[in-house]
Amino acid sequence: MHEMSLCEGILQVLEDEAGKQGFSEVRQVWLEIGRLAGVELDALRFSFDVVVRDTLADGAKLSIIDVPGVAWCLQCAESVPVEQRFDACPQCGSYQLQVTGGDEMRIKELEVN
Ligand SMILES: [Zn+2]
Repeated sequence: MHEMSLCEGILQVLEDEAGKQGFSEVRQVWLEIGRLAGVELDALRFSFDVVVRDTLADGAKLSIIDVPGVAWCLQCAESVPVEQRFDACPQCGSYQLQVTGGDEMRIKELEVN
């Protein structure tokens, strides 16, 4: 399940930041997740709880910030919203779209002790 490895990556970042910033406990994590990132949110929440058990983020709350998908349409020559990768342009129906946003996941903010 790739959500599990995503969460292991998140934990790695938390541990690195704890070392740099000198905190010892993470209470809340705000995570930006693009709609095109292909992340299953229920699986992610479940994996997060499992992965952070007995770590500095044990019991931390995971807050997910939904980031809409954006693509550049070659036909319209402008940015258009997309719900899924491989969607057609909502304006002209073209499939010549290049995804420019909403396909990544990143930690936006941490609440720490
Ligand atoms: Zn278009």
